[in-house]
Amino acid sequence: MDLEYLGRKTTFENQEQVLHSICMSEQMVYSYKRPVFPFKKNVYTWKQLFNTIEVYKKENEIDSNDFVFLLTNQYNDKNWFAFIGPSMRTGFIHTDDWPWFFGDTTDIRYPIAYEVIAWVVRGLMYNDQKEVVGGFHKKTFGCINDFCKNKKEITIKMRTADVCEDCMQEMKNKDVPPHYLNQLFSVLDGIRSNLMFRKRISIINKPSRIKIDLEAKKIFLVDFGNLDVRLNPKELSLYLLFLRKTNGIALHSLFECNDELLHIYRMISGRENIDEMARTIYLLTNYLGGELHTTISRIKSKFVKALGSELALNYYVQVLPTDVHGIPLKREGVEVT
Ligand SMILES: [Zn+2]
Repeated sequence: MDLEYLGRKTTFENQEQVLHSICMSEQMVYSYKRPVFPFKKNVYTWKQLFNTIEVYKKENEIDSNDFVFLLTNQYNDKNWFAFIGPSMRTGFIHTDDWPWFFGDTTDIRYPIAYEVIAWVVRGLMYNDQKEVVGGFHKKTFGCINDFCKNKKEITIKMRTADVCEDCMQEMKNKDVPPHYLNQLFSVLDGIRSNLMFRKRISIINKPSRIKIDLEAKKIFLVDFGNLDVRLNPKELSLYLLFLRKTNGIALHSLFECNDELLHIYRMISGRENIDEMARTIYLLTNYLGGELHTTISRIKSKFVKALGSELALNYYVQVLPTDVHGIPLKREGVEVT
């Protein structure tokens, strides 16, 4: 890595979000510092972004009190990750650059989800944009209202994912409904664990234990912040069968497991009609029909969607080195409840 590159990288990471005084919004006096990093980008003004969303809301007859966010990879003229519009019910969220700050394995849905929930809360907490800016903390200490003038600090804010005492009091004063706050905290918990586990996983490099909740039909990745993968009864039955068969199953002989699979399916499907259930499983175990391959590929895509292709590799049904299908995961970390 040459020095010039390192210098550009540092400059890019340390570029400032321009703290802009909203009370001047009509005259819009601000100083936009162009990055020295030779990084060409087109920018939209905040006004353009917010107007676009307002038009969208109107055209689609969306209630004016509902929140609509524009998720965009286009840059804005003040270089902010996100901001809320004058109506306090619109917002834009920048969707690029997250891997730059959180690392390449980051699932960018999490920082983006963080922004969505944080801006909904600010929309409920404050009356106008000026109050929002007034409520920002200049120093970054992990509260959702940290301004993060230095964009690099966004990782501290999101990995801490907390709300400080002052902001908590402010939410109470502004009567933000408690069920919104409950949701806020549960989303923050999920985002925090996810961003943390992705950082840890590169060091630990060990698969997560899984816990299968038969009633909820969810597979929880215990060490990955309890991230869950939801399978339908047919997918889950097949998954459980493959979990039982540690040496894997040759797909063309899956019909031999028909009874065992039907037994599992009866236990979790919630269906009553035994003939219908038997038919579903008969179709599933038929190697020549399309059902088996479709179900296996759906299971895979659900894990990949939740974990990304690299991390998902341990968990879905795939061809094992022995040339039969199976799940490579070590079974001692598996719990079924
Ligand atoms: Zn705070």
